[in-house]
Amino acid sequence: MSRKKSKVKKHPPSKPSKAVIGSTAKKPAKAAKVARTVGAGTDPKRVAAILVKLDQAYPAATCELKHENPFQLLISTILSAQCTDLRVNEVTRTLYKKYPNPEAFAHANPSELEQEIRPTGFFRNKTKSIMGASKGILEKYKGEVPRTMEEILTLPGVARKTGNVVLGTAYGIASGVVVYTHVIRLSRRLDLTKHEDPKKIEQDLIRVIPKDTWIKFSHQLIWHGRRVCIARKPRCIDCNLEPICYSKDKTI
Ligand code: SF4
Repeated sequence: MSRKKSKVKKHPPSKPSKAVIGSTAKKPAKAAKVARTVGAGTDPKRVAAILVKLDQAYPAATCELKHENPFQLLISTILSAQCTDLRVNEVTRTLYKKYPNPEAFAHANPSELEQEIRPTGFFRNKTKSIMGASKGILEKYKGEVPRTMEEILTLPGVARKTGNVVLGTAYGIASGVVVYTHVIRLSRRLDLTKHEDPKKIEQDLIRVIPKDTWIKFSHQLIWHGRRVCIARKPRCIDCNLEPICYSKDKTI
């Protein structure tokens, strides 16, 4: 029987990719564990094709939270939890006039601040985080948002997602991949991970996405999730990734 040449395009159902095994070849047990959790679509050629297509579709993708400095971006990112960037931008348009710096937020009247950020939801917790982070920046970092993940994570209410947004967008430091709702959904649809936990998804993405594209990739995936690969009914007919997407959610 003659053998046909196989192409990379088809989704290998359970075999781990050579790239994943290759990177951990001296530790078979660890390699097997990685292969079970990282999405099977992580062949380097396929990942490169995804990055090219994202570049073509979103060459100018960037953070959509309006800000004039790293501190404002930190506050806007805290406010953006469970809220749209549009709503956050509406709130911060006046908020940053009243509270122009960490001092102003650190000494705010909590009840007033709660009402001012109320439209973004979870306003009590967000008020505590904003005031706590502002105090931390003043007391530990001389009024400047720190530039390392280790330091930024010491601020109340700041987790890796916020740290990655601020370090990547405000300082151009590739500290990791921003993982939140759109990135979680798309990474799974594009078969780059099998996890649901954001920390594990970030580890999977860090493993397969080249470091020099982490910042851009995060923005592009978020843009794609907002514009085309939407949660309920992805617009696959308009998606340039469709030929290399194996998602069961595809609508064509
Ligand atoms: S083909 Fe559909 S499911 Fe796949 S990435 Fe594009 S929009 Fe999302």
